[in-house]
Amino acid sequence: MKDENCIFCKIGAGEIPTSKVYEDENVIAFDDMEPLMPVHTLIIPKEHYANVGDNVPEETLGHVFGAVRKVAEIKGLTERGYRLLVNTGEDASQSVKHLHVHLLGGGHMPRPNDQDWGTAATNADQIHGE
Ligand code: AMP
Repeated sequence: MKDENCIFCKIGAGEIPTSKVYEDENVIAFDDMEPLMPVHTLIIPKEHYANVGDNVPEETLGHVFGAVRKVAEIKGLTERGYRLLVNTGEDASQSVKHLHVHLLGGGHMPRPNDQDWGTAATNADQIHGE
């Protein structure tokens, strides 16, 4: 199912150009247009689901998380690691209502319970290779 008003559906259908990182039959991954980290890629199913709570079939979740591993390899993050973020609904400030996983990496990110998380998570000061 597609939602004709959904920007991520349009990206999945190839109707809007993006910085594509990976694509297969079921999912597409592309770089976030407002990156919070040196690597900030979004992984989405091509089918439309508003978020992870939207009766997403487990098979679809498997496709998305399978692609997470591939994107991490493509981006060279397998060894150092990365953070996955899945904003779900209003309290999580989800802005695009099409299920997506943020893959963030390329620098050290504090743990969410660290006091300085609010700014440090988006202003990484330990970028690898710099
Ligand atoms: P969220 O707040 O979890 O819904 O995140 C939505 C993300 O989508 C934000 O980080 C946006 O920068 C990103 N985004 C929205 N439109 C596009 C687009 N056309 N291409 C790439 N990233 C986008």
